[in-house]
Amino acid sequence: MPKYKLEYIWLDGYQPVPNLRGKTKVINEAPQSVEDCPLWGFDGSSTQQAEGSNSDCMLKPVGLYPDAARENGYIVMCEVMMPDCTTPHPSNYRATILDDPEMEAWFGLEQEYFLYHNKRPLGWPNDGFPDPQGEYYTGVGYANVGSVAREIVEQHLDLCLDAGINHEGINAEVAKGQWEFQIFSKGSKKCADDIWVARYLLLRLCESYKVDVEWHCKPFLGDWNGSGMHCNFSTKHMREVGGKDYFMKLMDSFEKNIDEHIAAYGPDNHLRLTGLHETQSIDKFSWGIADRGASIRVPHSFANDDYKGYLEDRRPNSQGDPYQICSRILKTIAEVPTS
Ligand code: ADP
Ligand code: MN
Ligand code: MN
Ligand code: MN
Repeated sequence: MPKYKLEYIWLDGYQPVPNLRGKTKVINEAPQSVEDCPLWGFDGSSTQQAEGSNSDCMLKPVGLYPDAARENGYIVMCEVMMPDCTTPHPSNYRATILDDPEMEAWFGLEQEYFLYHNKRPLGWPNDGFPDPQGEYYTGVGYANVGSVAREIVEQHLDLCLDAGINHEGINAEVAKGQWEFQIFSKGSKKCADDIWVARYLLLRLCESYKVDVEWHCKPFLGDWNGSGMHCNFSTKHMREVGGKDYFMKLMDSFEKNIDEHIAAYGPDNHLRLTGLHETQSIDKFSWGIADRGASIRVPHSFANDDYKGYLEDRRPNSQGDPYQICSRILKTIAEVPTS
């Protein structure tokens, strides 16, 4: 009789950026859905989620993903709950998402990151810098992407697809050693869960290559692009009704909440949102049609279709927590009446 390996993964209590944690539960029957995965506990005093004298925290499974890297393996994405199993732990931002089903929100997140070896991006010389940016974005060839990066990103893509994650694409990015994947989902929690599972799969895959993933939004100052996690979003109203009047009210709501958005969009964003390198300054809010220097980029298709479709908030960064990012965007949208 085969045994089944469930890797329960969750976010710890570290600030400002949580770490992924995971431990394996072996069970006798293959889970058909997340409902087949039992609640589990862990020692919260080792993850900055509890005091040693009262250390139990609970893991509530919220997503089940086939794990192609492991025989009879699954990944179980979990929320952290208090010992009563019903109160979300303060570190559980997934529980803050107001997912109004009537809104029918769709999200597409573009996760950028650097691959590192010995604390330097893959393909960079040990001292000094590689050739200036220009040919790396979507580039090909050893001079542009180095020797192992593509092998890693290809394997990562396959692992994610096997897990049922809705990747929409991958590409080499503007800085050498920088990459991106895009995940789309009809539903904020699913999209954010998928980003965390994809991050987990990448980190675990890179272990055997002695490669680290650098999620920080601006690893190198100077003329090197930082890493973002652009958030593309739409609601049923935006897709089907739209109109310039509603769009202007929506932008007013985003402008009014600028501080709340920046607080949810990942640490150290002032280093990245400078007004250079396809960004708007951190203290300014702007929108623009096809404008990659705006806070919010309005796709041509949106403006041409009577302000219907999706928008791209370019401010969230690569280290941001997708639960907090989606949660904030949904709150700001909810503040605007649709009639
Ligand atoms: P770019 O790099 O030019 O910003 P990408 O192709 O990397 O564009 O990302 C665009 C993202 O927009 C994709 O992740 C896609 O899933 C997302 N997207 C497309 N249509 C919608 C929509 N209606 N609602 C939400 N997101 C969408
Ligand atoms: Mn992109
Ligand atoms: Mn990009
Ligand atoms: Mn983008």
